[in-house]
Amino acid sequence: MTLLTFRFAPSPNGELHLGHAYSALLNQRMAAQAGGRLLLRIEDIDVLRCTPEFEAGIFRDLEWLGLNWEQPVRRQSEHFAEYRAVLDRLIAEELVYPAFMSRGEIRAFIAETGGRDWPRDPDGVPLYPPLDKHLPARERKRRIADNMPFAWRLDVEAAMARFAAGLSWAEFIDETMSATRTVAARPQDWGDVIVARRDIPTSYHLAVVVDDALQDISHVVRGLDLYSATGVQRLLQQLLGLSPPRYFHHRLILGPDGRKLSKSFKDTGLAALRDAGVPARDVRHLLELD
Ligand code: GLU
Repeated sequence: MTLLTFRFAPSPNGELHLGHAYSALLNQRMAAQAGGRLLLRIEDIDVLRCTPEFEAGIFRDLEWLGLNWEQPVRRQSEHFAEYRAVLDRLIAEELVYPAFMSRGEIRAFIAETGGRDWPRDPDGVPLYPPLDKHLPARERKRRIADNMPFAWRLDVEAAMARFAAGLSWAEFIDETMSATRTVAARPQDWGDVIVARRDIPTSYHLAVVVDDALQDISHVVRGLDLYSATGVQRLLQQLLGLSPPRYFHHRLILGPDGRKLSKSFKDTGLAALRDAGVPARDVRHLLELD
């Protein structure tokens, strides 16, 4: 029997809150129930927003909660060369293109083109206009040589056209506490997502699929807020020849106002709870994970 492998993958760009505690502890519980492994991955590709202080806070909080993870911890910022190699493959296969439009330019373009009916992604952000993907190669080279800022975006239409519709690539396995079902992956809902930046050779989506495969993750257990992003990740796995893990998207822990917790809600931060003398077992109890 192959060993099942779970991971908790926080980003050190803020303090952990009760939602992270739920995710970490649920991963731990599911790994234990399956007799499997639990890995910790620090997702710190955003070198501007991630700090060593936040990372140290993650370790403090997780130790306090009683999480046990295997060594070594994978820190994404130490693996840019690996992501670069994967990005180079996508560039060589013409599955990505340099996208030069700033947010303001995107807004102005959409306003000029009829505005209100412009398609939006599941987060409500307007899809990237299909201008840059048709730029002649010479013009792309000129702009890059001129040092124009850009991001690498996935040509989702070209990427999907690689595979026959209706095949199993276009779905992922989603588990819940009571059922396992197959869900249609709809990467096109996100448009041409960013897969790398000019200075950082990856994005969240690219690094997460590379690492989940490299670390032999069999089960991705994470919040429902990432449910529809799974379709994008499924397409990237297919393009890169990576076998997909199974997914389990857990409920989100909401604040007293019924809204999703964010890294700025101080009172539900784990450090604040600990400083207020709340024992870790009360947190586990509150989350119904004791
Ligand atoms: N690093 C991501 C976050 O902190 C989680 C990524 C994932 O679990 O796939 O939101």
